[in-house]
Amino acid sequence: MIYVYTLFSGSSGNCVYVKNEDTEILIDAGRSCGAIEKSLSALGTSLSRIKGIFVTHEHSDHTQGLEIISKKFQIPVYMTSPSYDNYVRGGSYLQRMARSCNVEYERDIGSLNIRSFPIPHDSAQNVGYVITSGNDTFGIATDIGHPTEIIAENLSQCKKIILESNHDIKMVENGPYPRFLKDRILSPNGHLSNDKCAQLCAYLCDKGVNGITLAHLSRENNLPKIAYETVKDHLNACGFENVPLKVAFADITVEATNDYSYPYPIK
Ligand SMILES: [Zn+2]
Ligand SMILES: [Zn+2]
Repeated sequence: MIYVYTLFSGSSGNCVYVKNEDTEILIDAGRSCGAIEKSLSALGTSLSRIKGIFVTHEHSDHTQGLEIISKKFQIPVYMTSPSYDNYVRGGSYLQRMARSCNVEYERDIGSLNIRSFPIPHDSAQNVGYVITSGNDTFGIATDIGHPTEIIAENLSQCKKIILESNHDIKMVENGPYPRFLKDRILSPNGHLSNDKCAQLCAYLCDKGVNGITLAHLSRENNLPKIAYETVKDHLNACGFENVPLKVAFADITVEATNDYSYPYPIK
């Protein structure tokens, strides 16, 4: 059985905690060591029990605490070679703890199996992960420039998923960002809109995904209620009204594998 918690989600930092009966790992470490340790402590665990950090890509909202955490707790860091080359500076401590991996790689950590798949984004590389424990499978995909067959194929093998629902297109267009930033967000290497997320969710529910946590919401160009309702309305229209759905909080831990009683944060 896999248990997954989003500790932090969005442009101010991303970190996902994953555990099964014998193994604990993190996906990304995009907040400070202290903040992540505090969140883990509230779950009754600690960075000292983390057996590996699997990085999606080198952007700072996914790597802010990486070096200090890895150094302090001697945790191996797994990242794809383009992200490794871009992020790991010559001689940095992380070089000793970091493993440079193929874009599509697979590792067994205890009884967890972690497998990566590529995601288009404006980083050196970006990947999502499929995590397997026994016959339980969980998928994570954020920072998605545009949906691809590879993303759909990998997530469709999962029972539950975390999926980016970054922005409302109208809020981006009418918002305060300069044109170049709007173009960046909306480009095929930017982030996934609520509408495109909703379409992908319906496709995945049709394949058997039965539990979705929307993540990496933009603070300026989205609202949890809008993301939730955009996806919920589309799932209802497609006959998937019973699929559990919720929104990750930016700064508060959310269990992504259970408890859908509180669908989204009010603010
Ligand atoms: Zn990014
Ligand atoms: Zn990001």
